[in-house]
Amino acid sequence: MISDKIKNEIINIVGEACWLDRPEHLVCYAYDAFLEEALPEAVVFPKTTREVSGVMKIASAQQIPVTARGAGTSVCGAPVPVRGGIVLCFSKMDKILEINTRDRYAVVQPGVINADLQKALAPSGFFYPPDPGSMTISTIGGNIAQNAGGPRCLKYGVTVDYILGLEIVLASGKIVRFGSKNVKDVTGYRLSSLICGSEGTLGLVTEAILKVVPQPEAVKTLMITFKDLDYTAKSVSDIIGSGILPAAMELMDQFTLNAIEDSAGLGLDREARGTLLIEIDGIKEACEKEAIKIIEKARANHAVSIREADSPEDRAELWTARRSAYGVFAKLAPDIVSEDITVPVSQVPEMIRRIVTITDHYGLRVGVLAHAGDGNMHPLIPADRNNKEEWANVIQAYDEIFAAAVELGGTLSGEHGIGLAKTEYLPLVMNQDSMDFMKTVKAAVDPDGILNPGKFV
Ligand SMILES: Cc1cc2nc3c(=O)[nH]c(=O)nc-3n(C[C@H](O)[C@H](O)[C@H](O)COP(=O)(O)OP(=O)(O)OC[C@H]3O[C@@H](n4cnc5c(N)ncnc54)[C@H](O)[C@@H]3O)c2cc1C
Repeated sequence: MISDKIKNEIINIVGEACWLDRPEHLVCYAYDAFLEEALPEAVVFPKTTREVSGVMKIASAQQIPVTARGAGTSVCGAPVPVRGGIVLCFSKMDKILEINTRDRYAVVQPGVINADLQKALAPSGFFYPPDPGSMTISTIGGNIAQNAGGPRCLKYGVTVDYILGLEIVLASGKIVRFGSKNVKDVTGYRLSSLICGSEGTLGLVTEAILKVVPQPEAVKTLMITFKDLDYTAKSVSDIIGSGILPAAMELMDQFTLNAIEDSAGLGLDREARGTLLIEIDGIKEACEKEAIKIIEKARANHAVSIREADSPEDRAELWTARRSAYGVFAKLAPDIVSEDITVPVSQVPEMIRRIVTITDHYGLRVGVLAHAGDGNMHPLIPADRNNKEEWANVIQAYDEIFAAAVELGGTLSGEHGIGLAKTEYLPLVMNQDSMDFMKTVKAAVDPDGILNPGKFV
């Protein structure tokens, strides 16, 4: 319970306008894009690192749980304050502090929206590769805490590959810095990689130095449809296996495509059992050669239609379908469960077969959406939590999908993280000693367990 005295101490640090504790405000910070909800006691909006540090000193002395929040787009319950306490929302720390393309970095505060950074970089011919589907709303702090990926991470890598340095406020309120503005830096432990993906359980990101890269000379997008989902999936492993590394390789099944068509009317082929959206980038001539090879592989797998786009407008049209997928699923049922299993690319066809068999067995609808080139799949099940029988089937189906992914050499999450959604499944991929090691790390940096308690360990 936060007393009036503590409330006033925190208000003295951040100002009255940056403190919320009325029930109608708190409810807005009780959930993310997953299913669980829990009310905080207060929401605090720091504007500087010093303010974050000041709040943490009080929280640490009073053992108040603190859960960081960016935009709340997590799909695993990561920012849900399950032990109450304070939600520390970084939306007011949203400044791009420096862009230096000569030395290829940008320095940002954690509340910067990913797409705003992209917009700021564009005129200089540079970009920041991590591109989660939520990039127009999610924050760099949230992206770092979740080690977010996205379509073009197939070629370019995920968030952790772009962190040069971090400023972190620890549970104690101490301010620490790791890394630097140098592309090469092996001075000490690479602690920024430990923080990346730690979901706000080890420290609070208050500033980040990010690597940025030049935009490619040419980009080409292909949309290829297939009459058979098996051949769609096989094309993925055939293309990757032939040595081509597209920037993005997205797969949508017929259910997903029809849901998009019903909602957006984009003129997509409703008969197609599977669709691949493939983007290649680099030098123009190389892109053309790769496109020819990709089309050959697709034709060998009985592709039925191939659309090519070179101009930004045509490419945007092809991407509209993929980007609207989550939104249209939200119209199908009161709830959607979107999971994030990842398997070796060679196992993509088998994993898709298993997803379909398992969901059929439980009488559930499923849309398969995948960053297929890196084996990262999002089976989306629309359902209703209030329908107890259906919901029990959803849980059972996911238990089996997780087990199948692990059996095929895969893992629980490629990009969405663990949060509340997957903590109970961790023993499927980690032995007790590995779990204990995570607990040791947590206890060393947050001995009282006040940072995002109830997650991971
Ligand atoms: C439509 C949609 C599409 C999506 N597509 C993708 C995708 O393609 N790839 C992908 O990886 N994810 C995707 N996501 C999931 C989500 O957008 C990402 O996990 C994103 O990185 C979360 O950012 P956020 O700012 O919303 O963070 P939040 O959801 O607010 O928080 C996420 C986690 O980060 C912690 N956190 C936030 N800020 C800080 C900070 N400053 N310091 C320490 N910890 C902090 C929180 O405590 C929490 O644990 C998608 C979500 C939606 C709704």
